[in-house]
Amino acid sequence: MNEPMQDLLRLQTLEFSEKPDKNTAALIAELRGKIPPQIIGHYDRLRVRGKKGLAAAINQVCTGCHMRLPLAVIMTLKHEQDIQLCDSCGRYLYLPDEAAIPPAAKPQAAKQARAPRRSSLAKH
Ligand SMILES: [Zn+2]
Repeated sequence: MNEPMQDLLRLQTLEFSEKPDKNTAALIAELRGKIPPQIIGHYDRLRVRGKKGLAAAINQVCTGCHMRLPLAVIMTLKHEQDIQLCDSCGRYLYLPDEAAIPPAAKPQAAKQARAPRRSSLAKH
């Protein structure tokens, strides 16, 4: 994961934490000072609507909206070349450590679909 995304993930974890304390506020201020303003700006636009601005990409699926991601997006994330946004929900994407994913958290639609079927899943 590249650095702005690491910082953003820490920030999101803190800001969505249920029990913030004084240290949390200080850390949030520190992280907000480090992350590029345009990234914070987009993150905040989602956050004010109660959404997390950063979603993990697991098994090539965005965990924010459960839409399948193009392989090119995953490859870019793997190589830490660039920041990627989910086309469907607009969240920043990151690849979590494989080891850090509990099996239950993996989406069930992990099977490789042979032909891209038109999904009838309603977007929210
Ligand atoms: Zn998404």
